Amino acid sequence: MNKVYMDHSATTRTDDDIARIMVEYMTDHYGNPSSIHSFGRTVRKGVEEAREKIARCIGAEPNEIIFTSGGTESDNIAIRGAALANKKRGNHIITSTVEHHAVLDTCKALSREGFEVTFLPVDEYGMVNVEDVKKAITDQTILITIMHANNEVGTIQPIKEIGALAKERGITFHSDTVQSVGKIPVNVNELNIDLLSISAHKFYGPKGIGCLYMRKGARVLPISYGGSQERKRRPGTENVPGIIGFAAAMEKAVNSINEQAAYQSKLRDKLINGIFDRIDFIKLNGHPTERLPNNVNMSFQFIEGESLLLSLDMKGIAASSGSACTSGSLDPSHVLLAMGLNHETAHGSLRLTLGKDNTEEQIDYVLEVLPEIVERLRAMSPLYANAVKNGLHQEKGCCSNV
Ligand SMILES: *Cc1c(COP(=O)(O)O)cnc(C)c1O
Repeated sequence: MNKVYMDHSATTRTDDDIARIMVEYMTDHYGNPSSIHSFGRTVRKGVEEAREKIARCIGAEPNEIIFTSGGTESDNIAIRGAALANKKRGNHIITSTVEHHAVLDTCKALSREGFEVTFLPVDEYGMVNVEDVKKAITDQTILITIMHANNEVGTIQPIKEIGALAKERGITFHSDTVQSVGKIPVNVNELNIDLLSISAHKFYGPKGIGCLYMRKGARVLPISYGGSQERKRRPGTENVPGIIGFAAAMEKAVNSINEQAAYQSKLRDKLINGIFDRIDFIKLNGHPTERLPNNVNMSFQFIEGESLLLSLDMKGIAASSGSACTSGSLDPSHVLLAMGLNHETAHGSLRLTLGKDNTEEQIDYVLEVLPEIVERLRAMSPLYANAVKNGLHQEKGCCSNV
């Protein structure tokens, strides 16, 4: 059977060359980087070289990189750490309704601990309005946290402009760039970012490792205590194999960023156009142009995204509905609801996220099996039968009646 992985925003396969160098740092070079003997020193050198590589990829200084266990932990340290460190200056935080749960739930927790949080709405494409950010700022605002690219619908936020606003007002600006790093250019100075979260497993690196970029002078308190690793911002013995793999994967992704964006966006557009050509009563979710090169998110009226996923899985195609974190629960995606979709349309959504190993043949295969699956599932829907009977028809590419 064909095996087609199109869930790269959930995670990616670690490249073989990356896995190989990681093994060296479990077997040959196993010292603790804090040890002063030669075993430790060799490993310390590897860790510091990795830090330099990562810093270079985003225009930062090596000592501004704090290794963490990934995107979730980086978001937690950035938001809670900045809130605690700036508490004397104010208690107001600005975020959006379409953030990853690592950001949303940290903000919600802080709102139960005396902080005021503004959750900004988004437009129909999932985009935050810069004017809304401007209007939300008060003299109590200490932190703005807005993601770079959305993990569900791929919409790219105007974070450069939001960062400029924050900078002008002396407010700390954090951005969850887990989905954008390695796919579109990320430079902390160009984007006016003070704090930024990265996760290696989203760009062919290992799981359980990432980093928080902390601009020099940014005030962030630690949220855990122990050793003095990572300048006490994230104590604990370093995940050395992870760090080595993270840096190698990041360098590789950033070096091929233009080539991959061109390749994957071509496949993405073929997939989107092919679906519109073959299936009616559908809607493209997310921004039509300000969009990650690898993201396809569509709603199929009259069917459940979960049934679609299972049917695709039986054909060897791995996709996702909403986000991986909400799959398995029956709550519709908070992102799609925030964009104004009704519950039914949000439930009928499918996310296909491409990667560097997907091929044109795989796109053809999806385009071959998806229409059959949708037709079969819709055949079971009385609502679909009614719509057809009543002569409702959707024009190609039109989404007004969904
Ligand atoms: C995957 C993801 C995270 C979580 O990263 P982990 O390393 O899996 O904890 C956070 N934010 C976004 C936007 C993501 O896509």
